[in-house]
Amino acid sequence: MSSAVRIPASAEPSPTGTVNILLVDDQPSRLTTYETILAPIGERLVAVSSGREALQFLLHNEAAVILLDVNMPEMDGFETAAMIRDRPRLAHTPIVFVSAINPSDMERLRAYDFGAIDFVFVPIVPEILRAKVSVLVKLHRQQIALVEMNRSLELATERLRCSELALQQKAGELERSNLELERFAHIASHDLQEPLRMISSYIQLLARRYSDLFDEDATEFMGFVVDGASRMQRLINDLFDYSRVGSLGPAPARVSSSIALAHAAANLASMIADTGALVTREELPVVLADEGQLTQLFQNLVSNAIKFRAKGVVPRIRISATIGTDQAVFSVRDNGIGIPADCRGRLFVIFQRFVRGDEYPGSGVGLAICKRIVERHDGRIWMEPLEEGGSDFRFTLPLAAALKEL
Ligand code: ADP
Repeated sequence: MSSAVRIPASAEPSPTGTVNILLVDDQPSRLTTYETILAPIGERLVAVSSGREALQFLLHNEAAVILLDVNMPEMDGFETAAMIRDRPRLAHTPIVFVSAINPSDMERLRAYDFGAIDFVFVPIVPEILRAKVSVLVKLHRQQIALVEMNRSLELATERLRCSELALQQKAGELERSNLELERFAHIASHDLQEPLRMISSYIQLLARRYSDLFDEDATEFMGFVVDGASRMQRLINDLFDYSRVGSLGPAPARVSSSIALAHAAANLASMIADTGALVTREELPVVLADEGQLTQLFQNLVSNAIKFRAKGVVPRIRISATIGTDQAVFSVRDNGIGIPADCRGRLFVIFQRFVRGDEYPGSGVGLAICKRIVERHDGRIWMEPLEEGGSDFRFTLPLAAALKEL
């Protein structure tokens, strides 16, 4: 047994950060030479004196490079290499054969059959041996890094797949709960209308017939009831409109957005006349939309633009559009009270209002309806505050030209 064998075959793991270089030679002096030459590489050198010991070491350990003497008693270098290669885990561990004499071509071929990466010859040229082993160690490290990268990539892919699945599940749940909400809103708004109508009519009847019997308080209370009933009526109507946006309407078709805007303005005629609002528009494109919904979209935005005006200011609303390749970006600008920065994230959420109800009546459903309409048309809606005050509501819609030929 060589004195150079310092590591028992079942060696402890190499110190952190270093890799094993396995030196296999039956001549202790050669093992010492390898160690001296390879020490500057800074890796862990494991010296063993036979093929059997080498195999034993490799049972539980990895090696970045194996330096293997060809001529050894019992089991020579080639046999050892063949047995190493038989283990799938070691099939790619680089083996450098050390040969005392220049091997014949036949021997060389045999060695390559056994998976030799390279040869070094005795007398050994230290620089050459060091250079060869260094390169192989470097390759080994790169391989380890690659395996680790692959593993983390696999892990990341797996995580991504899991979150995708979770997302799909959530989307499914959301769709189901949206449908339920829609159904609920539809039924509730429909069923509530009748009793509410009854309350309103009887209150009005009561007011007409018995008003002389009411004292001041009773008249005031009656006013509250009428006011509450009409607010509730509006809320129910809005909720009904909201629930209807999602249900299947006619398929989108070519719609002139200026005609849809004209319909909206006609519906708002008395509001426009009462406030003296100036509603102007630039040239608007033909889009691919549900005409009724586009009218409602303009109507909600323009009526908000008029409603949320500052006291004593004549509302000025300008509607325009920028044409892109396959979509148009519409803009509805006003000179109104604007929207506080901290409210903008909730602007399109149903029932969210950022004003006092007694100053600006409403239900907080209008913009949620706008969002549903735009999204039903695969568009996006957002608001940009204007420097001079006021708001610029923007939304996208597909251009009719985007549809090949209707
Ligand atoms: P509603 O008009 O019934 O209040 P909306 O959903 O249309 O409900 O609007 C939600 C809230 O967003 C409003 O209560 C208001 O605070 C704000 N808002 C909407 N449009 C404008 C606007 N053009 N200018 C200022 N504030 C607006």
